[in-house]
Amino acid sequence: MALIVQKYGGTSVGSVERIKAVAARVVNTAKEGNKVVVVVSAMSGETDKLINLANQISPRPGEREMDMLLSSGERVTSALAAMAVEALGHKAISLTGRQAGIITDTVHTKARISSIKGDRIIKALDDGYVVVIAGFQGVTEGATDVTTLGRGGSDLSAVAVAAAVKADLCEIYTDVDGVYTTDPNIVPEARKLQKISYEEMLELASLGAKVLQTRSVEFAMKYTVPVVVRSSFNNNPGTFVVEEDKDMEDVVVSGIAYDKNQAKITVVDVPDKPGIAARLFNAIASSNIIIDMIVQNISSDGKFADISFTVPKTDAKRAVEVARSIGSEVGAKRVDLREDISKVSIVGVGMRTHSGVAAKMFQLLADHNINIFMISTSEIKVSCLIDLKFTELAVRVLHESFGLAQS
Ligand code: ADP
Ligand code: ASP
Ligand code: MG
Repeated sequence: MALIVQKYGGTSVGSVERIKAVAARVVNTAKEGNKVVVVVSAMSGETDKLINLANQISPRPGEREMDMLLSSGERVTSALAAMAVEALGHKAISLTGRQAGIITDTVHTKARISSIKGDRIIKALDDGYVVVIAGFQGVTEGATDVTTLGRGGSDLSAVAVAAAVKADLCEIYTDVDGVYTTDPNIVPEARKLQKISYEEMLELASLGAKVLQTRSVEFAMKYTVPVVVRSSFNNNPGTFVVEEDKDMEDVVVSGIAYDKNQAKITVVDVPDKPGIAARLFNAIASSNIIIDMIVQNISSDGKFADISFTVPKTDAKRAVEVARSIGSEVGAKRVDLREDISKVSIVGVGMRTHSGVAAKMFQLLADHNINIFMISTSEIKVSCLIDLKFTELAVRVLHESFGLAQS
């Protein structure tokens, strides 16, 4: 007998039929003698629909109200999924994030989980219930306000609950049957990985492979939660996310990711003196905007600098406002925004022990006339910012040339 957390994403609960299919899998798992906690997303498209409604009401809706609104999508599917399990003759109870004891900080729309009081979940499991938890949401300390965990946050709900109840396995059910060498919806030749290290998965996720939300991987790595990514549409074996082992280093590049949710902001002609970058990036950080790549170029006379950086497209307008305000205080000439860009990245723990990988990437992009605007590297990844329209081409070329395609 095992304790299993099963998370079902938007497409997996996208219709009444799909919810019934989920319930059948859940009941099967329970009948095999396991305790089952289910975490559900909203129906696919629902969160976007709600965001769209909010934007029709106000150009910048308040974030507390956004959380009230967006958390409703998961509430619907959790109740429906619990009903579907009961309809199959098994006891089930749905819980909101608050009822499940998921406590977060107060950063609305991208809250961090601070603790999970798992006793109600454990009690319900002991009483023979399948527990269905609404993903993507929590509540601030003292149960004051509903929060949400950032897009794709149901993955984090699942992994965090799995850690809290000490689950034997956290199964992430989605619309692909595992983690591939790159997005299989863009590159049909992509290969499914049997296993991937937490670290590589973390890089892939943070570089745009939305199959797992970044924070969920961070959490899984920190608490060594065993995670497997599987399809809710079939019974294929999935991809296990595991600790790194020796033979993983033999592969130089194990995956390619792309991220179209990027915007590049350039503060032009900033006086080149100490403290200006600190001021700019402090102000942006205070607005809870995460900065990714940064490049600073000094003019040939050494008097001015252009500071370019990237932020998620969804935060671009706010970031530009902040940059303009600091820019005018420090005497910058202007602030430019470019949104038709994307970031393509190669990832692999093998890069630590192989040289020339970045150079090969740059050469491949050059061979296809793809200009690189910005570069960033870490021990196990190289990322290039390019024109949005070349994204698919770049991913395909890199995937093929680094030998990742199915043979
Ligand atoms: P869910 O709604 O189940 O959470 P998501 O849409 O968030 O599902 O994530 C699944 C999608 O992730 C897939 O449909 C696929 O297009 C995309 N994806 C991107 N990169 C990868 C990858 N390397 N392996 C598998 N899927 C990937
Ligand atoms: N429904 C939320 C979203 O679309 C959370 C999730 O699906 O994981 O981002
Ligand atoms: Mg997802």
